[in-house]
Amino acid sequence: MHFETKAIHAGAEPDPETGAIAAPIHLSTTFERGIDGQPAHGYSYVRDANPTQSRLEEALAAIDSAAGALVFGSGMAAGSALLQSLAPGSHVLFPDDCYYGFRILATDFFPNWSLTADFVAMEDLDAVRRSMRPQTKVLWAETPSNPLMKIVDIAALVGIAHERGATMVVDGTFATPALQRPIELGADVVLQSTTKYLGGHSDVQGGSLAFARRGSLFEAAMHTRHITGGVASPFNSWLVLRGLRSLGARMRVHCENARAIAELLSKHPRVAVVHYPGLSAHPRHDVAARQMSDFGGMLSFEVKGGRAEALAVASKVKVFTRATSLGGTESLIEHRASSEGPTSRTSESLLRMSIGLEHRDDLLADLEQALKS
Ligand SMILES: *Cc1c(COP(=O)(O)O)cnc(C)c1O
Repeated sequence: MHFETKAIHAGAEPDPETGAIAAPIHLSTTFERGIDGQPAHGYSYVRDANPTQSRLEEALAAIDSAAGALVFGSGMAAGSALLQSLAPGSHVLFPDDCYYGFRILATDFFPNWSLTADFVAMEDLDAVRRSMRPQTKVLWAETPSNPLMKIVDIAALVGIAHERGATMVVDGTFATPALQRPIELGADVVLQSTTKYLGGHSDVQGGSLAFARRGSLFEAAMHTRHITGGVASPFNSWLVLRGLRSLGARMRVHCENARAIAELLSKHPRVAVVHYPGLSAHPRHDVAARQMSDFGGMLSFEVKGGRAEALAVASKVKVFTRATSLGGTESLIEHRASSEGPTSRTSESLLRMSIGLEHRDDLLADLEQALKS
């Protein structure tokens, strides 16, 4: 079955009690037990599992070609639960351009958990091989990356990880399973911040892990979630489930709009560089074309000059809104270094955009007027 069909039908059985087509939200925190003391209907307590969450996990597993999925209260809760499931002494290899939350997690929390980390540019496969240690348990990729839209070769990294007995994790938030399914390329775990495109309306926070196998790592992450408590609420699970039903259709428009904007910016005299994997000038355009069905709705660009020039462009937009985050229906623009704060390594001239579902011509006209000097 194709992605769009699975996204609409997985976990969508009519409610057995009422025949309701829209999934019911079960807000109950506790579930009846039988006279034998055992759960009578398969559920026990909300932090463990609940019926709305189960529907979402079924859908997420289906759309990522996974054997199982676990949902969390945020993308960071999902990633943290996975990393907290590693044995003390484990080493994690992250990409140099990984989501800044994971960089801070590694520096501020890994010492407490007796984990170590290194960061490496993963376009360079020899550098990845050299950075793998006997203790490396996770090779963590993010593609396209945030905010530089770097593309790494998932299948090649899977080869290196598996040769060394490590687990291959891919943060696929920017691509979504509509455009890129790392498990089909051999990856073991896919992380999504469902706060972004899966929720799709900038009104819900969530995260998920999809697993190629329901093995020991799946069990360990489920146990970590149950005990540390970073689980998604029933209402948030419902909102993400509602959002992902239209993911396939939304991504088509996000991609079309982003492609038009990337082309406009790449010809603009005030723009130094555009980071968008759909442009043939992108250094890894070929890898992106191989492992993604389209190039997504995220892009960043650098304004000639520096911080002042970039902030000036962002100050003039009227259709775009100045805000962080991504994946909603509305277009957003942000000065990424300001959002990331003092530990940011992002260029002061960089603006990151989440291209929304507005009419393309309105977005193009807005950027053209904002770029007038
Ligand atoms: C937003 C984001 C995260 C973190 O997700 P939250 O839901 O904000 O915790 C992780 N990775 C990427 C690529 C993201 O964009």
